[in-house]
Amino acid sequence: MVQPGESLRRYYHAATFAVGLAVFAAAAAQVLTDGLGPKLWLGVFLGAPLIALIARFPMVLDRGEGGIEVGFESSILLFLVCTMPTDQALVIWSLGVMLTQALSGKLLSVRLVNIGIGIIAGALAALIVTTLPDRDVVSPRGLIVVACAAAVYFLTDYVGSGLSLFLAGQTTLGAELLQSETLWAIACFVPLDSLGYLGAVVERSAPWWTLGLLVVPLTTLLIATRAVTRGRENARRLTVLFGAAVRAQTLTDRDAVLTSLVSDARELLLLRTVELRPEAPDLGEVGVRVQLGEEVCWLTARAANRARSTTASDEQALRALAAVASDAIGRLELTTEMVHVARHDPLTDLPNRGILIDQITQALEASDRGPVTLFFLDLDGFKPINDRFGHGAGDRVLVELARRLRQCAPDGATIARVGGDEFAILCTGLPPQEAGPLCERLVAAFETGVDVAGQRVQISVSIGIAHATRDETAASLLRNADVAMYEAKTQGKGRYAVYEPSMGRSRLDRLELVDELRRAIHRREIALVYQPVVSLATGRIVGAEALARWQRNGSPVRPDIFISAAEESGLIVGLGDVVLGQAASDAAAMREAFGGSHSLSVNISAAQLRDPDFLETVERTARTMSGSRLVLEITERQGVDLDAEVLAAMRTITDMGVAFAIDDFGVGFSSISYLHDLPAQILKADAALSAGIDRDDRARTLLRSVAFMGRGLGFDVVIEGIERESQLDIIRSEMPGAFAQGYFLHRPMPLDRLLQTVRSERSGVASGD
Ligand code: C2E
Ligand code: CA
Ligand code: CA
Repeated sequence: MVQPGESLRRYYHAATFAVGLAVFAAAAAQVLTDGLGPKLWLGVFLGAPLIALIARFPMVLDRGEGGIEVGFESSILLFLVCTMPTDQALVIWSLGVMLTQALSGKLLSVRLVNIGIGIIAGALAALIVTTLPDRDVVSPRGLIVVACAAAVYFLTDYVGSGLSLFLAGQTTLGAELLQSETLWAIACFVPLDSLGYLGAVVERSAPWWTLGLLVVPLTTLLIATRAVTRGRENARRLTVLFGAAVRAQTLTDRDAVLTSLVSDARELLLLRTVELRPEAPDLGEVGVRVQLGEEVCWLTARAANRARSTTASDEQALRALAAVASDAIGRLELTTEMVHVARHDPLTDLPNRGILIDQITQALEASDRGPVTLFFLDLDGFKPINDRFGHGAGDRVLVELARRLRQCAPDGATIARVGGDEFAILCTGLPPQEAGPLCERLVAAFETGVDVAGQRVQISVSIGIAHATRDETAASLLRNADVAMYEAKTQGKGRYAVYEPSMGRSRLDRLELVDELRRAIHRREIALVYQPVVSLATGRIVGAEALARWQRNGSPVRPDIFISAAEESGLIVGLGDVVLGQAASDAAAMREAFGGSHSLSVNISAAQLRDPDFLETVERTARTMSGSRLVLEITERQGVDLDAEVLAAMRTITDMGVAFAIDDFGVGFSSISYLHDLPAQILKADAALSAGIDRDDRARTLLRSVAFMGRGLGFDVVIEGIERESQLDIIRSEMPGAFAQGYFLHRPMPLDRLLQTVRSERSGVASGD
């Protein structure tokens, strides 16, 4: 696009060049008619190149593109107009100016306007000198006239160039011309031009060869000018660089760094042609490589002003700028990375709780807020994986599950890891009726299990859903989803529940629960009830299973709730000690009531088997209850996670005469082959296996096969969950060698009731005989 100023500038360039050319043509025509003398030829071949040479050492004023160059070739002009006929002087001068511009390598339009200005300024200076009668320059009046001619030349050149810049830019003419640099230009201009005049004086009054002496001051001055120009330029560049370095520290995004790099480079070189691009510099360009994080670019510019600097120093300056930009990008990337690390889980790279809360807050505050739904997920059965296979394997499982979450979650949802094995999914705009199906997909995605150390391990997820209400906060939404998740968990694993205000137990309540449980264990406030185990063959009670009971603030807490809280918080070992101690002290009374051999079963968790003090505890317990057969029940779910160390502990315990029972058999993720390796003597078929045997033939067959297989492998088989007579009839007739437990036979009861029951049974049997 051509700006209005730009077309005006073109007219100005064309007009100036045309006038200059006309002046040159007129002078040349006059010279041709006057005839070409040897002095003219000498002037053309010596003077014109000298003009071009001196012109390469200009003073550069920092204005606009490339600045204004104030050349000192006018010293030759003054010499010429003082010593030669005006036309000849002008012709030599014009040729010198043209040669200078031809060699300058500038844009054509700039060269043309410079030729025009040079010739016009020269003609004006010559015109002034012609006013001197007899060309008497070697006189006080001559000196004044020549000084005026020099001043007019300087002004014309200066104003002419300034006008061109003014037309190109948006600045005022005054700003272009009135600047402190002008004084510097004049300071260099006066001594050099006075040398031209001095030459004329010498030429008039001394032998011609003495002119050669002028070479010394001329060279000295030119070198000094160049030194001043470059020195000032270097100082200016340092200021730009320093500013760039300081600014780079404050920039906060990559684009700002790049924009500032280009604009700083433009300011540094005073060139508008600077650009940042993927391609290396072409011929006639300067350029440096810029490393911007991973990316590599080139900072390039078209030919710079050689009076000011050299290619090497341009490149050096650009390199310094590039380094500043690289550093800034590096710092930004590091900051971004650090923020990412601080806000993401390093294992799964999912956002952490902090981001989740931010996102919930944003979603709740959105003006066009649609439904906001939070899903809180907690893995079931993750801890045993960690315990058994180690944390490395646990980590791999989490990574795999995070991948499945990403796959299932709707587009645009935020998936966060909010705790060890807890995740959350935040959905905005999800229709409420789609929450359930999403949970089903999630549960299904986990149901397939995970491969750990070459084994397929079962895992599931419990999900709580909370729909944001009108004045929901991030904290309340999270709490509600968490509460719903716990509700889902207590209903059984691998389920989901939608939050309702009637649900009460949040994580905080749970922390409180754990706290109180810790105190209760400490004060040995865990009580035991006993559920008799009955032999189907004899119909008699052959033993009892101890079940822990805890009253919290006067009301009982369901065992699966406080037992799982104890397992998760590590309290289970202490709780187990209390239970074993209590069972041991109850054993004496039992021995007396049973009056013969009987078993006393105590439930334990896998964590207890890993406890270094456990062997000693068991030994002490077994010793105290000698006469009762101690049985340790370990659920199949935990039994699967037994490793070599735990198996060794189990064998040592077995050697003490203590038996192991595999509890809840048939509902976990058992592999039958593992039964073979376990040092256990009793198999307890889970209540789920007996639940439908009086209604469903297949259920009956299944239980029968389990019992048969257990017997075949040498286990005593206990069938749990006998709630109806019809169930009892079936197992009695089909599995006569087995044992049974269940509400229909006996509910769990306090010790004294157990003793009473056993005593009355024994005496009943005795009297019946
Ligand atoms: P479990 O070892 O399978 O114990 C049997 C559970 O089934 C007991 O529940 C018992 O009351 C219940 N039960 C017995 N007969 C029937 C029946 O006919 N129908 C039904 N529906 N249920 C019946 P409880 O006492 O709530 O214990 C739950 C679980 O808590 C136990 O399951 C056991 O795994 C665990 N637990 C209890 N006490 C301890 C303990 O001292 N240490 C450890 N580690 N776990 C314990
Ligand atoms: Ca049990
Ligand atoms: Ca059981």
